[in-house]
Amino acid sequence: MLGVWSHIYLPQVGVCRASMVAHTCFGGAPVASRPSAQRRNARQAALTQAVSAPPAPAKTQLKTTRSEEVFKEALTLLPGGVNSPVRAFKSVGGQPIIFDHVSGPYCFDVDGNKYIDYVGSWGPAIVGHAHPEVSEALKEQIYKGTSFGAPCELENVLAKMVIERVPSVEVVRFVNSGTEACLSALRLMRAHTQRDKVLKFVGCYHGHADSFLVQAGSGVATLGLPDSPGVPASSTATTLTATYNDLEGVRKVFEANKGEIAGVILEPVVGNSGFIPPTLEFLQGLREVTAEDGALLCFDEVMTGFRIAKGCAQEYFGITPDLTTMGKVIGGGLPVGAYGGRRDIMQLVAPAGPMYQAGTLSGNPLAMVAGIKTLEILGRPGAYEHLDAVTGRLINGLLDAGRAAGHALCGGHISGMFGFFFTEGPVTCFEDAEKADREKFGRWHRGMLERGVYLAPSAYEAGFTSLAHTEEDIDRTIQAAKEVFAEL
Ligand SMILES: *Cc1c(COP(=O)(O)O)cnc(C)c1O
Repeated sequence: MLGVWSHIYLPQVGVCRASMVAHTCFGGAPVASRPSAQRRNARQAALTQAVSAPPAPAKTQLKTTRSEEVFKEALTLLPGGVNSPVRAFKSVGGQPIIFDHVSGPYCFDVDGNKYIDYVGSWGPAIVGHAHPEVSEALKEQIYKGTSFGAPCELENVLAKMVIERVPSVEVVRFVNSGTEACLSALRLMRAHTQRDKVLKFVGCYHGHADSFLVQAGSGVATLGLPDSPGVPASSTATTLTATYNDLEGVRKVFEANKGEIAGVILEPVVGNSGFIPPTLEFLQGLREVTAEDGALLCFDEVMTGFRIAKGCAQEYFGITPDLTTMGKVIGGGLPVGAYGGRRDIMQLVAPAGPMYQAGTLSGNPLAMVAGIKTLEILGRPGAYEHLDAVTGRLINGLLDAGRAAGHALCGGHISGMFGFFFTEGPVTCFEDAEKADREKFGRWHRGMLERGVYLAPSAYEAGFTSLAHTEEDIDRTIQAAKEVFAEL
């Protein structure tokens, strides 16, 4: 039973470090032979059976009556019943779970079910949900007012924390979301270089501003076509795309657009096509290519910021970009985004300079307080060691359990961010991620949900842990995974 399907890559990815990233992350060669035709047929039959079987086995039936009622009403009030698309469970089937409250590593739904949570509000809940210190700080602030529309000292406090921690940031501007941070950084790259074109990577997400809604599914570096109706072709005509981890491809794009590219933006560790780490050579190469051409390098650290390391992914990999965008963790659960970088570039931003960008609620004291407290807790000794330890235990346990059950898997983690794909890999870019078995992911997601584990409802999302996750939570998760892998 065991072994035949163990096309597992990288059992050591859990100890992936900057110095070895290039060699170990999702690299390596297949170690096992292909399954026999007979076994394939048997599995195929099992798959077909599973697909047509009732969704939830009786023993783990989830009570979802109230969730269904609330969602049914939401469908009449909100487009698709949600305020952000992936929450709708479209890619895993079934209906979304409606949350009632969250606490530490857990979320609780309106039917009274409890889950171990690996979404963490898509990243912000890194110190654990509803952390008492964060809640207390918010409570104190709320009586002093939630929005001033005038400067407050708390903005300086958070700014100093960011500047002290993030190597590339000398000056920072706070906004209200990651989307805002990225679209402002793009404007700034253009303003500084007086060039229009921008290079992004297929499968990287930088919020929903027009210029970034280009995926170029062909994977060939080419002028972008919009991914969404409502985005004029003129908005994306200046968006170039290349394949993640493909430095040669990037060089070609620069050769074909010499002196015309304002900057390169990327997720320094991809989380929006599933978890895909960069090679160190790739990041180093991007730093060189952009510097040679007079283009800027922008790390979109909205997801990786303060999660990969205290000084973000740029500190972890030792590559300093010109600009950095932040979000998610920096707001500790309240809406905060930020962009920052070299002083000479940031001085272009109004009112210091001519590049306009503004926000009624930007830097509001309530959001600043949540960010300050969250970064303060993350700054305590042992925080990132804890994230790395629990996440390593989790991903290695999951990969082992999946391997033992005969599934082709590849995956890994860095600090409190992890993921795996139902494919033998290696996965180094979006095109590789697309080869994973998404139908199987849907069944995996459902099976885990029924056993009290809440995972992102998409095969293209990274998972997140928090300071509140204990070894016991991890071991319970792995136990659930063993049962689910056996059923897939
Ligand atoms: C989430 C995310 C964004 C968008 O942030 P919002 O706050 O959802 O607007 C941008 N870039 C990356 C890398 C993200 O993960």
